Amino acid sequence: MSVNKFRNFKMVGYVIYGRGSFNQLDEILAPHRKGDAPMVFLLDHYFENKPLAKRIPLRGKDKLIFADVSNEPKTSYVDKLAAGLKGEFGTVSGIIGIGGGSAMDLGKAVSLMMTNPGSSADYQGWDLVKLPGVYKVGIPTLSGTGAEVSRTTVLTGPTKKLGMNSDFTPFDQIVLDPELTADAPVNQRFYTGMDCYIHCVESLTGTYLNEFSKSYGEKALQLCQEVYVKKDHWDADNDDKLMMASYAGGMSIAYSQVGVAHAVSYGLAYLLGTKHGIGNCIVFDHLEEFYPEGVREFKKMVEKNKIDIPQHITKGLTDEQFNTMIDVSLVMKPLWENALGKGWEKVMTRDRLRALYEKL
Ligand code: NAD
Ligand code: ZN
Repeated sequence: MSVNKFRNFKMVGYVIYGRGSFNQLDEILAPHRKGDAPMVFLLDHYFENKPLAKRIPLRGKDKLIFADVSNEPKTSYVDKLAAGLKGEFGTVSGIIGIGGGSAMDLGKAVSLMMTNPGSSADYQGWDLVKLPGVYKVGIPTLSGTGAEVSRTTVLTGPTKKLGMNSDFTPFDQIVLDPELTADAPVNQRFYTGMDCYIHCVESLTGTYLNEFSKSYGEKALQLCQEVYVKKDHWDADNDDKLMMASYAGGMSIAYSQVGVAHAVSYGLAYLLGTKHGIGNCIVFDHLEEFYPEGVREFKKMVEKNKIDIPQHITKGLTDEQFNTMIDVSLVMKPLWENALGKGWEKVMTRDRLRALYEKL
């Protein structure tokens, strides 16, 4: 970030927080219904046949779609969903993305593609989106990614894994109801929760840090520590805390940047399809030299919460495959600059990055 260029960032429009706040969704949506144009609910497929699916406030022509999040969102899937809705309804009143980071990102992207022409792949990058999408709501059922507050939606396209970063991307409304995260499996909840922890460490130790990011980052870090270091069992209080940690962690990186773990894990995601949360954990586990204190605490949390972090996932890869990961990772210039400062290219050479990938 140059000294005279401050980020003027667009935030989420409305926020409701609290256990059971999901029950207010019908009321929240009512003023945004345009004639008989439907609200479309993109619900994480995990909830098919689960009680949450029956609590969706469907009215009139509203549509409930179970979002397939077996893979992280692809531009082709976004395009297919948007084209299907345009074909069926012409226009819709809004899109409500309910689930982990994947379902929320799908919600944002489909909203944007209801109004912007072409393919979502055309908008992978910064400030390429030209028109506001339709009204969009995000409702997390996992805490950690910060996707509920961010100005991006991470998509894998034909040539790259990159978000649609724009001022039109943040949600108009988010519903933060910690009850929705209660049944998440232990490992998944940890991997996604650690995404938040890693956001905080990368933001707080980065060269882009300012008081705005620090204020949110420190709070989010403290909440993660309360949940994963201090507590001996999981309870509702943890769900409350982790949901706010995710929100604050997202706010922290809105005004700074992530760092080494994210830059390296993007390479794993691109080549091996490793998912964001677990990929970050696999990388962070080996980053003592960059984040000594954070990694020490992370290892403690892994042990205390009895989590498995996969090892040796890059064993047996070819030179070409290592080079692909290195190329993808080195494109993430702002992340490296935040982590290592200007002149980072001299610090993180291809050989050093290769050695790091070989450890994973
Ligand atoms: P996820 O959304 O990929 O979901 C992981 C798994 O958990 C899925 O199988 C899902 O069905 C299941 N699941 C979701 N909620 C559940 C619940 N309450 N109980 C049981 N299972 C549940 O996981 P995530 O870690 O939340 O999100 C990762 C995604 O978010 C990636 O696609 C990543 O690129 C994206 N991301 C986006 C941003 C952003 O700013 N837009 C930031 C970080 C990550
Ligand atoms: Zn992340």
